[in-house]
Amino acid sequence: MTTLNELLTTSGQSATVDSFALYRIATSHSPEGDAARRAVLDGALSLSVSAVAVSTAAAMKTCWDEDCPERHRLGSETQVRAFCELPGVRVVPLELTDGVATGRLYAVSSGARIEGVEVLSSCHSLLIAEEAGQPLLTSGRARYCYGDQLLDRLDRRPALLEV
Ligand SMILES: [Zn+2]
Repeated sequence: MTTLNELLTTSGQSATVDSFALYRIATSHSPEGDAARRAVLDGALSLSVSAVAVSTAAAMKTCWDEDCPERHRLGSETQVRAFCELPGVRVVPLELTDGVATGRLYAVSSGARIEGVEVLSSCHSLLIAEEAGQPLLTSGRARYCYGDQLLDRLDRRPALLEV
């Protein structure tokens, strides 16, 4: 299994990012997020991101970590947009088949009262990572989006790596 360190230091790696990781990488919000951003800029790392995660990250005014001591600058949507336009970033639209599969996963979460656009975008991110056989970059704050009842629905659980 790929570790975060391998992913960030080896050329030719690829991963999927959820909305929380996208915020942290696009705005260089954590040392790991900054390292991932630099790896993408260097062409060493390519990322897939759900179009729903792009919308979610663009709407995030902070990293959502209530104890975060870092500054949260205004205008993160500009940084998210600029990052997603890089050649190493692939934005995956939510098409019909994936849309239905994402909704099926989201029903599992919402049945457990875990709801919100970030949860929906995490469901699509999981499917993208599973289909591509890639690790999913996420954050500690997003752990509630990936309960066992949700992950048990997948044929192959992607490795969840926190940035
Ligand atoms: Zn923060």
